[in-house]
Amino acid sequence: MTPVIGISCSTLVLPDLRSSPRFALARYYTSCVVEAGGLPLLLPSLEPEAAAAFLTRIDGLILSGGLDVDPALYGQEPHPRLGVVDEPRDAFELELSRGAREQGMPVFAICRGIQIVNVAFGGTLFQHVPDQVPGAVKHDQEGLTDDGLGHSIEIVPGTRLHAAAGTEKARVNSLHHQAVDAVAPGFQVSARAADGVVEAMEDRGQPFFVGVQWHPERRPFDPLTRGLFRDFVAAARVAARAGA
Ligand code: MN
Repeated sequence: MTPVIGISCSTLVLPDLRSSPRFALARYYTSCVVEAGGLPLLLPSLEPEAAAAFLTRIDGLILSGGLDVDPALYGQEPHPRLGVVDEPRDAFELELSRGAREQGMPVFAICRGIQIVNVAFGGTLFQHVPDQVPGAVKHDQEGLTDDGLGHSIEIVPGTRLHAAAGTEKARVNSLHHQAVDAVAPGFQVSARAADGVVEAMEDRGQPFFVGVQWHPERRPFDPLTRGLFRDFVAAARVAARAGA
């Protein structure tokens, strides 16, 4: 049975004035899902009420990368370095996150995804890591090629991330200026950068609910990427069988 993997999208407004806003997703996400044996289904940011209907039609959920999360959603005023926010996407993904966790659906949250999940369940974010984390390493790499590596991470033994990675040390790409600050209740940190920034977290009470701050999909050949997509799609396959 091929599990259907819903993937949230960005809203893209192109500079060409004749263009209407587009829903968009980097092809890396769909390639990695296909490679791991899943069938990707792109989820446009509709009204939050649509989230529940989508969740009845998918077996696993990927929350993809994108713009900053609105700090009002975790009770903060905007930091001067806050980037562009997408309020409809925030609202839609908060509903997806909560609905998926309630159902025990496998979730793989990437970059912005780990941030929206943390906010969905009561955590907070650093709005601009270089200003808010003392001694921060460079998390927002410039001139990065798709397979470029950024900083190291240390993986907590015994976590699902550890099982997927098969190692406690790894180097990852890093394309973010925000990060998880206070971790949401029910989640545990499963990896940190050398400066202490949360690079991964998970809910061990779920079959597979893992968030990572880097972009594994951009390194499809990396054993760490393969392990994560393999375990996530395998959990979705179990969910698909159970629902069939
Ligand atoms: Mn990083």
